[in-house]
Amino acid sequence: MPEKINNYENTNRLFDKAADALDLDEEMRILLKTPFREVRVEVPIRMDDGHMEIFIGYRVQHSGARGPMKGGLRYHPEVDFDEVRSLASLMTWKTALVNVPFGGAKGGISCDPHQMSMREQESLTRKFISRIGFCFGLHRDIPAPDVNTNAQIMAWIMDQYSARYGYTPGIVTGKPIELGGSQGREAATGRGVSIVTQAAARDFDIDIKGARIALQGFGNVGSYTALFLQEMGAKIIAVGDASGSIFNGDGFDVPALFDYSRQHRTIDGFDGEPIASEALIELECDILIPAALGNVITQENAEQVKARMVVEAANSPVTTIGDAILNERGITVVPDILANAGGVTVSYFEWAQNIQEFAWEEERINTDLHRIMTRAYDEVRKTMKARDVNMRTAAFIIAIQRVAAAERIRGGL
Ligand code: NAD
Repeated sequence: MPEKINNYENTNRLFDKAADALDLDEEMRILLKTPFREVRVEVPIRMDDGHMEIFIGYRVQHSGARGPMKGGLRYHPEVDFDEVRSLASLMTWKTALVNVPFGGAKGGISCDPHQMSMREQESLTRKFISRIGFCFGLHRDIPAPDVNTNAQIMAWIMDQYSARYGYTPGIVTGKPIELGGSQGREAATGRGVSIVTQAAARDFDIDIKGARIALQGFGNVGSYTALFLQEMGAKIIAVGDASGSIFNGDGFDVPALFDYSRQHRTIDGFDGEPIASEALIELECDILIPAALGNVITQENAEQVKARMVVEAANSPVTTIGDAILNERGITVVPDILANAGGVTVSYFEWAQNIQEFAWEEERINTDLHRIMTRAYDEVRKTMKARDVNMRTAAFIIAIQRVAAAERIRGGL
């Protein structure tokens, strides 16, 4: 039977596995799994050709037990409540795992920004914020970039929110530096992925120098991940994006590919042997890094994965059955809530700088990011060994313990 994919159920299954290991009581499980608030809005805008179109926008605030809720906004045709709920829940566990004082949220709009002009995207963003801005707040809920959203969109959000509530740069992270954005934020998720990949490679006997890496997705996360891993001595032998995939057995010139992708907004046309996108997942390599969308390693192809390690730079790139197959085959999976937590960590630094109205130097950002990512990785490794569980369950165990402790201490039932 083909695998039925329900993102939110899948995330809750991962939660339950760790909750079982912790012997967590039923009431606390329900409390921790149930989202705090869910909002859906209709967003009508005038398109460039003069007709009106209505888009649907979402925000799910999963947990505020440990601090203001935090999570990105995604613009993609597949955005729906199921996906957003799942991603919001992952944010709760991610912020807890790296121990920054945030809860979890996620949102988005079901749309295809590649088919929209800048004016249409701005209009959509502003109307969305005018309808949903009431549930944001500097100490309530702070959005950030995700798939197909960027610093420009964050700037519109800040401007729209500030027009109504007063100048509030800290309402959103991932802003342009000119508006109170943080040094190092744009590269932060990829930098964090590379730090954790290097640490995991060392522990699982893969020499990062010369390691052969296949990378799916060359947007914000994928492109910076490639840059930093190449600086560490790894070879990026395959890359793919929505336009297709290319292979270079000697390793790509990543800075050149990075510049090309920035200029053309795609890797399409860069020099390399074209391969099928499915072939990239099944490529002979040391480390496979999915850094695009969710559910790309599934029941269908997990048996064919040849990498020794999979690093989840994207959120939920491996389905439940895919994960079970990789585990059974002894392939190490570095889970999303650990691997890609560098983004929210520097978002926390950005928010803290906005509140202090004081900008930090990039060196401080990168040093603190390195310290936090390494600490989280080391804690996960210790928990793996102490409880004899895989890396994902260990990461969830640490995160659940922290959120459950906050819920218990706050009380209020
Ligand atoms: P992005 O929009 O900058 O890039 C997405 C990339 O995925 C692009 O290269 C796009 O072409 C590619 N892609 C889209 N559909 C594809 C397909 N069918 N096959 C292959 N490639 C495809 O987004 P991003 O910010 O880099 O986010 C990527 C992933 O990382 C997402 O899962 C996101 O949730 C996660 N993430 C992002 C951040 C962040 O700070 N941006 C933080 C944590 C996690």
